[in-house]
Amino acid sequence: MSEILDLVICGGGAAGLTSAVYAARSGLDFVLIDISSSMGSQITQTSDVDNYTGFEKVNGMELVMKFYEHAKALNAPMVNDEVQEITKENGIFTIKCAQGEYKTRTVIYCSGASHRELGVKGEKELLGRGVGYCAVCDGFFYRNKTVVVVGGGNTAVTDALYLSKICKKVILLHRRDSLRAEKILVERLENAENVELMFNSEVAEILGEKGADGVLLKSGDKIDCDGVFIAVGIVPRSETVKSLAKLDNNGYIVADESGKTSLDGLFAAGDVRTKALRQIITACSDGANCVDSVNKFLDTV
Ligand SMILES: Cc1cc2nc3c(=O)[nH]c(=O)nc-3n(C[C@H](O)[C@H](O)[C@H](O)COP(=O)(O)OP(=O)(O)OC[C@H]3O[C@@H](n4cnc5c(N)ncnc54)[C@H](O)[C@@H]3O)c2cc1C
Repeated sequence: MSEILDLVICGGGAAGLTSAVYAARSGLDFVLIDISSSMGSQITQTSDVDNYTGFEKVNGMELVMKFYEHAKALNAPMVNDEVQEITKENGIFTIKCAQGEYKTRTVIYCSGASHRELGVKGEKELLGRGVGYCAVCDGFFYRNKTVVVVGGGNTAVTDALYLSKICKKVILLHRRDSLRAEKILVERLENAENVELMFNSEVAEILGEKGADGVLLKSGDKIDCDGVFIAVGIVPRSETVKSLAKLDNNGYIVADESGKTSLDGLFAAGDVRTKALRQIITACSDGANCVDSVNKFLDTV
């Protein structure tokens, strides 16, 4: 039988890398597994983070690399692999990955979330050809062009602000009559000269043949554009644990601040768990709390 670890951390974003820092400092025998070689955290999708204490303004990728370097400096073992299946037998978890398998007494599951789809015609067909979900990744291709951003939360407003510095014009479409984003972001958006806000506007279809060239609204109006960025929320990446732990109606793993789930030894941290505020700082906090819970759990088995 292979070695049994104290802990496997599934995911290397804000929650996972903080868990790794705390686990290394606790002397736990563990490994962190992340699917991406550059750590696929959602943080890398944002250019400016200006609400993480200690950093007035920091680039998203730079912040993740700082988290990564911190864990690395503590000799935290980290591998690139995809967690595909988790099972538990006789108190021991088996983590099956694309390239290997790990046995462990506890798991911190912190796989984050991914973008929600709008679910309209043209979205899948034109993906990568004028339709995208990551303004920071793809915004450059729309230099001096007109783009539409769909959504009304922090991500949509942040995307619109980012694109306003690159594009000729940004049109923000929101289906409600006001934005849900933080006040400071909304104020910045309202001050951006090349941003047009369109409320009560629901997308019916993304138009175009070879590439997106417009958006058809449910009202029947058509908006011409060169690209469409969709930012209408997130869905938790909880598929792998759905038969192990209780999920809420939206697919989030039910867990409180301690990270404890309905299954002994399985802890959930970050955006994938039920919580009020999904941010970098709260994901980091979860990571620290989960390692504390892991240590307490290991003392009892
Ligand atoms: C565009 C955008 C802008 C944002 N801006 C801000 C901001 O300004 N300030 C702020 O506080 N928050 C911001 N957020 C939210 C913030 O990024 C998240 O709350 C935070 O990253 C959550 O951390 P996490 O560790 O739960 O998930 P993530 O940071 O997303 O990390 C999850 C990790 O799990 C890995 N993973 C997933 N599935 C698997 C698998 N099967 N096997 C192995 N690894 C896997 C992924 O590769 C990833 O590295 C933003 C989010 C987005 C999308």
